[in-house]
Amino acid sequence: MPPPVFRFAPSPNGMLHLGHAYSALLNDRLAREAGGRLLLRIEDIDRERCRPEYEAAMLEDLAWLGIAFETPPRRQSEHMADYAAALDTLDVLGLTYPAFLSRAEIAATVAAAEARGRPWPRDPDGAPLYPGTDRELGASEAAERIAGGALYATRLRMERSVDMVGALSWDEAGEGDVDADPAAWGDVILARREMPTSYHLSVVVDDALQGVTDVVRGADLRAATAVHRLLQDLLGLPAPRYRHHRLITDAAGRKLSKSDRDTGLAELRAAGVTPTEVRRMVGLDPS
Ligand code: GLU
Repeated sequence: MPPPVFRFAPSPNGMLHLGHAYSALLNDRLAREAGGRLLLRIEDIDRERCRPEYEAAMLEDLAWLGIAFETPPRRQSEHMADYAAALDTLDVLGLTYPAFLSRAEIAATVAAAEARGRPWPRDPDGAPLYPGTDRELGASEAAERIAGGALYATRLRMERSVDMVGALSWDEAGEGDVDADPAAWGDVILARREMPTSYHLSVVVDDALQGVTDVVRGADLRAATAVHRLLQDLLGLPAPRYRHHRLITDAAGRKLSKSDRDTGLAELRAAGVTPTEVRRMVGLDPS
């Protein structure tokens, strides 16, 4: 049996904090216990928010923690062709459509419906589902708008996709098979107006291309796993095992943020905190 493959996949859009440290250290520990490999993936598809200086700081923090990832890391911005190929596959299956509504237009549609007393359906993260008016647009009309310079995102035809694959589940550590409900997310984005892919699409493609067998990440991404399972089935990719871990919170019980100064790894390091103390702070015994 080939060894299991774990990965830590941060986005360089800010500084790492104790929550990232926990996730990275847990991946490291589980990989070592399983005699597995540990990969680092830099999720930098968002060219507006991701910066090389954040990436450099991130690598420094991880090295300081003493985690040895295989090198070189995979940088998503260097693999756009892989995501384009996956998008093409979904397109050929008839599962995508160009979505023309801007963020402001979506918000206005939702607000208008809610003003009439109709609650708008929300996804598991609380964002309103895409109205989907342009889902029914004829191919020639859509092509005409695109030729006319209209901006668009590419979205997944969720209902059709779910019908195609049927019931889905995933293997969650400590729980066994968990039912996946991708429909709760509506017509998710596969490629944005300003970038030719999306988080969901690239994470699924990369986990498969990197041979990841074990996805260990925060509980805030648990609901998104339903979308990932759906895309894996549609694209004919293997499903890894999943472990969604607890989130590290601040003293007031709030989720940590990348702009929080007192839980940032660089700040802690500058204040003289050691990697062993970081392990203790996140509830991992030093090993
Ligand atoms: N890049 C994502 C983040 O920083 C994590 C993606 C994943 O682990 O699947 O939140």
